[in-house]
Amino acid sequence: MNSQFYVTTPIYYVNAEPHIGHAYSTIVADVLNRFYSLAGFETFFLTGTDEHGDKIVSAAENSGQTPKEYVDRISGLFRTLWPKLNISNNYFVRTTDPGHQDTVRFILNRVNENDDIYFSEYEGLYCFGCERFYTERELVDGKCPDHRTEPEVIKESNYFFRMSKYQDWLIDHIRQNPGFIRPERYKNEVLSFLKEPLEDLCISRPKSRLKWGITLPFDENFVTYVWFDALINYVSAVGYPDGEGFKQFWPSAQHIIAKDILKPHGIYWPCMLKSAGIEPYQHLNVHGYWNVNEGKMSKSIGNVVRPLELVDIYGLDAFRYFLMRDMVFGLDSEFSEEGLVARINADLANDLGNLVSRSLTMVCKYFKGELPEPGHSDAADEELRIATLELVDRYEELMKGLGFHKALMAIWEMIGRLNTGQIGY
Ligand SMILES: [Zn+2]
Repeated sequence: MNSQFYVTTPIYYVNAEPHIGHAYSTIVADVLNRFYSLAGFETFFLTGTDEHGDKIVSAAENSGQTPKEYVDRISGLFRTLWPKLNISNNYFVRTTDPGHQDTVRFILNRVNENDDIYFSEYEGLYCFGCERFYTERELVDGKCPDHRTEPEVIKESNYFFRMSKYQDWLIDHIRQNPGFIRPERYKNEVLSFLKEPLEDLCISRPKSRLKWGITLPFDENFVTYVWFDALINYVSAVGYPDGEGFKQFWPSAQHIIAKDILKPHGIYWPCMLKSAGIEPYQHLNVHGYWNVNEGKMSKSIGNVVRPLELVDIYGLDAFRYFLMRDMVFGLDSEFSEEGLVARINADLANDLGNLVSRSLTMVCKYFKGELPEPGHSDAADEELRIATLELVDRYEELMKGLGFHKALMAIWEMIGRLNTGQIGY
């Protein structure tokens, strides 16, 4: 029996064009998917777009389109980008897909039947940019940490998910499964957040305020709040509840996300799964930000790196190599075009290029351009053979642990050794 591997990217919110952060998450998922596939696993690789919420409605209005026309267009940008970056996803999920919407309603009903949903009035601090309520202690100087604007006080009745009920279970689960959230720093971040009492999660918006969403199956005057819609894509895309894909792939699920969405993925999502009677995912893999000009990249700051422009100039494999080699998975990295060029020159043109060029030259010069059968091997050859086999083991271990830059460094150590070693001629 084959082993399975299921990897997901976040579903990207379609209020802006794809940037390097989207490209990085998706390339990491692609690299893992190819690695497991080569290792003989049956793999499933999912990406997609998140298409509901009031930010979409206002973005659509700004571009003079209906929400549906707008999400079709922006979602299309993502779908046409991925093949150009050699992304090998098996499926592209959209939260406006009828199948996804059915699954969301199915899970809402199940959670509701489990007495985990209640109706209540709520007054809170709301950031319209984030489409969510903030607690006082989450604010920075009274402002949204992302938008640096003051949230507004909003009072309305809504449906709530009894997330607090699962707090102790979640803490135990994280402690008993060390790789559940990784790298370690993000596991610790979630555990430290869980030291405070967990609040219940508001999961609806009244239709008077937002129409562009999935109607609640138990109250047609409300639509589902974005996270209770978006997160469910990871199971709807593989056919939950009855699909074979779900049974086959969900037990091996690994999510790739950037650290800005740690809380929904590290806290809301496992609690939602538990309430719905679904086993939690295997791993939540969290990466840092690509900082451009020493600040978090954002469209408003005007330093967005467009992946395709770089690929046109430097080539796709060089671009992918740079992203995997220069970021320590989990930490922030500095992005600069100079850094990309330096990496290409040193690693690809110089180290790897020299090795390939020297090897080809020798094959032409000494063996008439035909690769000969291995001849007599001396001690140096044998040492090299053993080192290469060890490299394969080390590489596999590093890749499974998300140590992409170290896996590449290990290969480049060997390249360096072959370049400088006294081998034969
Ligand atoms: Zn905000």
